[in-house]
Amino acid sequence: MTDSVSPVRVAVTGAAGRMGRMLVAAVAARADCRLAAALERQGSAAIGVDAGVLAGIDAAGVSVGDDAAEAFSAADVAIDFTTPEASCAHAAAAAAAGRAIVIGTTGLSPEQHGELEAAARDVPVVWAPNFSVGVNLTLRLLAQAAEVLGEDADVEIVEMHHRHKVDAPSGTALRMGEVLADTLGRDLDLVAEHGRSGRTGARGRERIGFHALRGGDVVGDHTVVFAAEGERIEITHRASDRMTFAAGAVRAAVWAAARPPGRYDMDDVLGLR
Ligand code: NAD
Repeated sequence: MTDSVSPVRVAVTGAAGRMGRMLVAAVAARADCRLAAALERQGSAAIGVDAGVLAGIDAAGVSVGDDAAEAFSAADVAIDFTTPEASCAHAAAAAAAGRAIVIGTTGLSPEQHGELEAAARDVPVVWAPNFSVGVNLTLRLLAQAAEVLGEDADVEIVEMHHRHKVDAPSGTALRMGEVLADTLGRDLDLVAEHGRSGRTGARGRERIGFHALRGGDVVGDHTVVFAAEGERIEITHRASDRMTFAAGAVRAAVWAAARPPGRYDMDDVLGLR
């Protein structure tokens, strides 16, 4: 007997981007989904080019277009790693088309997150600042460390990314800060300290420091330092290949295609909730 479940149809937005090309390859690598559409911004040189060829794999038989409504109607789920403005527009288009959407774009304002919430009333919306399984495990380890160390340790978050990254600190660093602040019973907005310079005075015990390094082709490094009297713990995650994010996002897309409307994150996808 053959398996009668048809593959999940996926639309990839930002298909010519660093992540978009990885996503096209990650969709092609799985038997349970297939590329149904690929989108780029209007005027992009990638319009009309085969998405597989752009991704450096075999031709996918799908040319890159610029019409979100048309692309989403041909798919069961969209995956979007673009810009905050484009992600909000794509979430609204997914809601209008009745299609699930997985969003990995970082640097969204609170208002823009509100736009994702609005779309999530109509369709499944998965947003995560980091789709790697390793980072989501690291978040768990951070909560455990903060719980044990409590007020005894000063907490600093150091991240490094490639020179093209346009937001700082990274969405992952901010998520780490939220997990630490929640565990320690602090309000991140009140205790976050971004970089230091000049006569800063002594470090406030309750502070959570963020430091963003940029350069070269670094895919994504995050270290959280817990510095106590007489000892120091450092928990580090290093991503060396964007495929780790792309594979996680495609896993999330296959999961989301069969969910009821709602706002989800990687904990839901991985069953960690
Ligand atoms: P990139 O600049 O290489 O790619 C973005 C692509 O989106 C570009 O090709 C651009 O032309 C396209 N685009 C912009 N507006 C569009 C529109 N209206 N319609 C269709 N396409 C449009 O950037 P990148 O390195 O691929 O990163 C994209 C986003 O993903 C960033 O916010 C980054 O921080 C985030 N990111 C998240 C994760 C994660 O796991 N959540 C991992 C890596 C990167």
